[in-house]
Amino acid sequence: MAQETQNHTLTVSGWAAHDSSGEIKPYTFKRRENGENDVTIKVLYCGICHTDLHYAKNDWGITMYPVVPGHEITGVVIKVGSNAGKFKIGDRVGVGCLAASCLECEFCANSQENYCDQIQFTYNGIFWDGSITYGGYSNVIVADYRYVVRIPENLPMDSVAPLLCAGITVFSPLKDNGMLGSPGKKMGVVGLGGLGHVAVKFGKAFGHHVTVISTSPSKETEAKGRLGADDFMVSTNSQQMQAGNRSLDFILDTVSAKHSLGPILELLKVDGTLVTVGAPDQPLELPSFPLIFGKRSVKGSMTGGIRETQEMMDLCGQHNITCDVEVITPDTINEAMDRLAKNDVRYRFVIDIAGRISNL
Ligand SMILES: [Zn+2]
Ligand SMILES: [Zn+2]
Repeated sequence: MAQETQNHTLTVSGWAAHDSSGEIKPYTFKRRENGENDVTIKVLYCGICHTDLHYAKNDWGITMYPVVPGHEITGVVIKVGSNAGKFKIGDRVGVGCLAASCLECEFCANSQENYCDQIQFTYNGIFWDGSITYGGYSNVIVADYRYVVRIPENLPMDSVAPLLCAGITVFSPLKDNGMLGSPGKKMGVVGLGGLGHVAVKFGKAFGHHVTVISTSPSKETEAKGRLGADDFMVSTNSQQMQAGNRSLDFILDTVSAKHSLGPILELLKVDGTLVTVGAPDQPLELPSFPLIFGKRSVKGSMTGGIRETQEMMDLCGQHNITCDVEVITPDTINEAMDRLAKNDVRYRFVIDIAGRISNL
């Protein structure tokens, strides 16, 4: 049963998983009324992130059912709270992974809300009023304006949606590791999926030489053709990997399956950095020799702050960067999730939320 919270009187239609089968079904629930810091958003599109699948099936043992997934949300503002005047009705906006943070700690003060230890996520979180948060698989969302970004006018709302999670997840470590405003670096992208394909686009837009490292030789044409990568290596081909020894300045590892970092680290120059964002649920193999002999670093990164999410959006507007998406209707979410579990998508599913429910 959905919990009842004071002021949660706005009836919303959405789609939820109700148990660990992960099956998504229509679900009607209540959201809070638009508060002074809120904007109410008519959801147009919502991307399907791998995280949605994990929560729907309770893979991490922390799902509070029913769970309404979705944190790659685009839509239009339909109500504005008295403190949320930077937005107005009709604005094209996006909501990503963050619903709330403490607003006071050093990370919040520094626009790194994503590392606040009181962070609350857009779904399966607990908002300040004690209510469970529900995500973007729904026709309306109420969001604190401090966690809402603007979508550039020239970008389409469907293919922009996955930038709110997949996009910022790869943008933030690029920025953090000096890959913005310093063209001409050698950059590696491990894995060519929802995250990897955006990373290739960013790398090229920022002027770098981009090498895709993948287990699938069949992805070479796509990587070097349409996505514009400069080079391609098959990670299981030891000859190719050895030939790339000490060739890269920076590597972004987007693979979510268990794998060894050893052969990949050998591709880094001395003092190079690998950032992992793929979140495998098994520990990664991390042999010490490639670290020690090359003074190399391995780091992690989780989504991004709101200021840098807006910066990413604006850069995407300038460079015309969007995600490659397959737009689906809400009644085919389960099929899409089955395909996503098999990595059978190029490169992100996006649900056309408003196509079905347009009675607002
Ligand atoms: Zn996500
Ligand atoms: Zn904080």
